[in-house]
Amino acid sequence: MIKKCDHAGCTKAGTCRAPKSRDLKEYWFFCQEHAAEYNKNWNFYANMTADEIEDDWERQTFGAPLRDKNAANADAADYVKFINDFISGRSEFDRRPAPSKTPGPVTAALKTLGLAPTAAWRDVGVKYRALAKKYHPDTARGIDNAAAEFAKITAAYETLKKYFGKK
Ligand SMILES: [Zn+2]
Repeated sequence: MIKKCDHAGCTKAGTCRAPKSRDLKEYWFFCQEHAAEYNKNWNFYANMTADEIEDDWERQTFGAPLRDKNAANADAADYVKFINDFISGRSEFDRRPAPSKTPGPVTAALKTLGLAPTAAWRDVGVKYRALAKKYHPDTARGIDNAAAEFAKITAAYETLKKYFGKK
């Protein structure tokens, strides 16, 4: 037997599932039209503060908000450092669109520096410094195309600097 749409007064078949709450344990069953309407209005994080969103993400990822974890693992300095490094890398990563949406020149610039499409800004900095040292006209010895390489990686670096919003 097919359930009726959960939307009050609607008599169509409830064939579309929509989560009732953030824990995704309970669902409404709507007809297509009401599911579309519900999904449009339903924002997973709509009524949460930034801290609550962060806690929620951490709870899903680590099993507890980091504030609690930090207290519980006060001794485990390495662990906390690892997590914090991960978080700071993640926040940078989160500001970027998915690699498939990365603009072409940015993808090319990452490639020029030999970086993965998902590289974060600090990866760019580290890689650029290493390459700049290698190819800088003042320090490059025995590399024929050093000046051209240096210009190339510097242009790539400038592109990425702009892309990551760095000054
Ligand atoms: Zn309906």
